[in-house]
Amino acid sequence: MINRIVMKNPIAELDGDEMTRILWALVKEKLLLPFIDLKTEYYDLGLLNREATNDEVTIQSAQAIKRLGVGVKCATITSNAARKAEYNLKNLFPSPNATIRAILDGTVFRKPITVSCVRPTVSCWKKPIVIGRHAYGDVYKAAELQIPAAGKVELVYTPADGSARQQLSVVDMPGPGIVQGIHNLDESIRSFARACFIYALREKMPVWFATKDTISKTYDGHFKEIFNEIYENEYKTQCETAGISYFYTLIDDAVARVVRDEGGFLWACKNYDGDVMSDMVASAFGSLAMMTSVLVSPSGVFEYEAAHGTVQQHYYRWQKGEKTSTNPAALIFAWTGALAKRAELDNTPELAAFAEKLESATLAAIEAGKMTGDLARIAHPAPAGSLNSWEFIDTIAEMVNIS
Ligand code: NAP
Ligand code: MG
Repeated sequence: MINRIVMKNPIAELDGDEMTRILWALVKEKLLLPFIDLKTEYYDLGLLNREATNDEVTIQSAQAIKRLGVGVKCATITSNAARKAEYNLKNLFPSPNATIRAILDGTVFRKPITVSCVRPTVSCWKKPIVIGRHAYGDVYKAAELQIPAAGKVELVYTPADGSARQQLSVVDMPGPGIVQGIHNLDESIRSFARACFIYALREKMPVWFATKDTISKTYDGHFKEIFNEIYENEYKTQCETAGISYFYTLIDDAVARVVRDEGGFLWACKNYDGDVMSDMVASAFGSLAMMTSVLVSPSGVFEYEAAHGTVQQHYYRWQKGEKTSTNPAALIFAWTGALAKRAELDNTPELAAFAEKLESATLAAIEAGKMTGDLARIAHPAPAGSLNSWEFIDTIAEMVNIS
């Protein structure tokens, strides 16, 4: 065996469920362990172990990410009624991602993996567009009311310290209708802005942020103000040194510019904008299996994963003996992202070089026409056929070995 790369410090490794759990083991066996003396702290977040540990394992894994600074996570089942019956569960625990995000207080960034044979449906996009979605508040934590008949609707704030109440008329309703109350928190918006600049500095990407502050002068205006304040006070010097620009505009102007731009920037989005735009960007770049995701905490802790789920239907077919053509690309990039981050923190250039080599080999395989079915269906030129996951991973391993 060749000399394997030595790691100084471990990564928190969070295993998961179904087809991605199968691929997880395969990627480690074929693409990591032959080349790296892999050091991880392993946490089994498979559904049955979450149940057995009363979900303690999820909390421990988040604490490990915090302590070690870097984590890599496999997709996990979010339990619901159907899963409760399927796995004979006693409890329904919250989604592990929600639990981890609450502990790390992070923002999620989604970045597409681009290959020359899959053209984005927006023809001018040459580089990835990363979406950073503020995942707290606004319409996702709204209070809503259906109004049955004419009457007054007001906003009332009662200060906790007993000082004077503030009252504001929303509308004098002439008849039946609907109302909605939404909120956000300064601290959450600050964290979001910090995570965006930390990410942009790491990826060397300009930052775009947009709201509708001409219409929503107080609410969206406050988002704009806080973002700007964090930039000016905490990141401007670093960004200028690194040649990274910060650009603020109105959301409709941003959308119009995005479809005419060549990409290569971080688009920081308010919660709803991020929800909508991340699906638009993912779909326009080609395949959910090519979308990576990283959670960045305001303290600078990173957790990498694939954006897709456990690919449940493929798993059922695998259980029946089929070698499915499930695409492991985003999962491989979750590992390379975590290894590269570890390398940066530990100052181990050999490890960084390996992460880069593995990414290049994965892209090279696809660009040489060796790909899984999801990509074969949308690639130009169309490949002669598609590979199953095992063949695809073997192809990548060969390419790593000869490069
Ligand atoms: P999914 O696992 O992302 O799969 C949806 C469909 O997308 C698949 O059926 C497949 O389409 C295609 N697909 C996704 N990833 C692919 C890949 N790597 N290669 C090829 N095709 C891929 O979403 P889901 O079926 O809605 O969710 C399944 C489970 O995952 C759920 O229990 C959910 O809770 C969980 N989930 C976890 C996370 C996470 O941990 N981050 C995120 C989302 C969902 P075809 O069947 O057409 O081939
Ligand atoms: Mg969405």
